[in-house]
Amino acid sequence: MIIRPLSEHIINLIAAGEVIERPAAIVKELIENSLDAKATKIEVALEQGGIESIQVVDNGCGIGVEDLPLAISRHCTSKLIEDDLVHIQTLGFRGEALPSIGAAARLKIISRIKNAENAWQIAVENGRVLSPIPVTGLTGTQVIVEDIFYALPARRKFLKTSRIEYNRCEMVIQRLAISHPEVAFIVVKDSKTVLNLPIQSQKDRILAIFSDLYEEELITLDFNRRDLKLSGFISAPSVNRATTNGQIMVVNDRPVVDPVMQMSIRVGYRQVLEKGRYPIAVLFLQVPLEQVDVNVHPAKTELRFADEMAVRALIIGSIQKSLAMGAGAANINPKTLKITSVTQYRPKKESIQYPSYQQRRDLGKLFFSKNDSKTVFENRLPLNTALSFKDASSTLSKISDDNYQSMAESMPLGYAIGQIFKTYILAITQAEEFVIVDQHAAHERLMHEALRQQYLSSGIKIQALLIPEVVELSDIHYRYLMNFKDSLTDLGIEIESFGDKTILVRALPQLLGNISVQSLLVDLAEELETESQLYTQEIEVVHNQLDSILAKIACHHSVRAGRALNVEEMNSLLRQMEETPRAGTCSHGRPTWLKWTKKDIEKLFHRS
Ligand code: ADP
Ligand code: MG
Repeated sequence: MIIRPLSEHIINLIAAGEVIERPAAIVKELIENSLDAKATKIEVALEQGGIESIQVVDNGCGIGVEDLPLAISRHCTSKLIEDDLVHIQTLGFRGEALPSIGAAARLKIISRIKNAENAWQIAVENGRVLSPIPVTGLTGTQVIVEDIFYALPARRKFLKTSRIEYNRCEMVIQRLAISHPEVAFIVVKDSKTVLNLPIQSQKDRILAIFSDLYEEELITLDFNRRDLKLSGFISAPSVNRATTNGQIMVVNDRPVVDPVMQMSIRVGYRQVLEKGRYPIAVLFLQVPLEQVDVNVHPAKTELRFADEMAVRALIIGSIQKSLAMGAGAANINPKTLKITSVTQYRPKKESIQYPSYQQRRDLGKLFFSKNDSKTVFENRLPLNTALSFKDASSTLSKISDDNYQSMAESMPLGYAIGQIFKTYILAITQAEEFVIVDQHAAHERLMHEALRQQYLSSGIKIQALLIPEVVELSDIHYRYLMNFKDSLTDLGIEIESFGDKTILVRALPQLLGNISVQSLLVDLAEELETESQLYTQEIEVVHNQLDSILAKIACHHSVRAGRALNVEEMNSLLRQMEETPRAGTCSHGRPTWLKWTKKDIEKLFHRS
């Protein structure tokens, strides 16, 4: 047996396996180099999803002719100052990317530093470095990578179709572009310009990248916790996706994929979003350099936080605080199910003045001709007859009542004019908007929040059942519920074992009223089962479990679709929604209300 050192070329090929597993990884390394070179404009051109060629051109500092051979030599970097792996300020630091690319593909670099007479080109083929030759070129660097993995045929076979590879490249570019809005980005796909981003604000950059997102759907985050700083934007809960692709995390200017942060986003949205749905979230976290380790993997997208709990607490807390606004805060345009305007309405307990009964009556009359007001107050909205109510604005303009003004401003969901299909409440706002409320979804949220409020303050008020109910369950459901007996008691559900697979229910939360005890218990058991699979040793476990159980309980009571409400009840529901946190969506993230402006309606009738 003879032990001998590997050749430089083989070492580079091995590293290539880790650093540049696919075109997207090359794109990432090249853009990161351009960003480290302080470029203000970066152009990326891809052929066949990057499989045929990748070209990155920047206007950064360039590489001097004497440094060119070093740039493509292993473990040579200009970035680690004084051998300090702790205070890493640049995206690159390992000196691995260019030599790895040079080993696995045809690599050409053309670069010119400021004040140089001309540019220089260096090329690597099959690990063989050709000496630099003078060429023409602007200040900055142009890197051309062709025939990816021609030196690694096994790896080349693993490449997917050019469409899939392109999508991965696109995601990488999006992440980097969002983390650096101060840099212009141009993307050319198979000779066609597909993205052209000028230097812009963080928010404009996000809107340019997520082109289906409206500005009003973004909620701004800006929070500190000791020496951690979190800023960025998250989407209203009703804007959600089936994947986490809309989540971009940037730590100290480096786009990362971090499970701690991902989990924190999920927990932050827990109360407003159904499992399996993910919000859009762009989070910028600033952490003191010595509190985060980025040298975890050659791709440098993973990291380790020294104080994971602090990061988690900051993200969860910031998201939860930002989402805890009343309904009316975000306007969902029913045409696209897109939010079109945010009034940032936040409930201020003291400042809201509720209209007196007489005031509300008068207000209600404003919207109706005499005959209709009668029908509405009797809660018999004639479904088959067309509603004829006066143009609200013309009527309103005659009212000089200051009281009305302040009253209407505090009512972003407007005043109820009726109910249709025994399911939806129709309302009109002072700003001439037409609102539809899903009464079941809304009520579910109100009940959830009321139970949560009771739980957090004085404890959930219970109602002992006159005759305890006996519920028979499957073996596994029985066990889940009995294991959770004490917590259920805290939540107002008193159970005890009544023999094999049978549970006796002695008391329920007072708020619930009449419900089917059997189906409540089955639902709870199922909830506990899924919950126990979701989290293992999370601190939030108990809190989250309790909350999702409250959501389940709330669901059981809520005014089911199909219940007729009188106008008093409708308006009281609207007012409660306005002052209840998170009431813009039900506990599953579905919107509780939709709004059309008068303009929207005019557009629908082509009346512009
Ligand atoms: P690292 O980025 O970890 O230093 P790389 O292999 O990616 O390693 O690059 C090696 C060196 O080449 C960098 O340290 C930098 O000095 C130089 N370099 C690479 N790309 C560029 C660029 N676009 N502009 C200026 N210098 C560059
Ligand atoms: Mg690099």
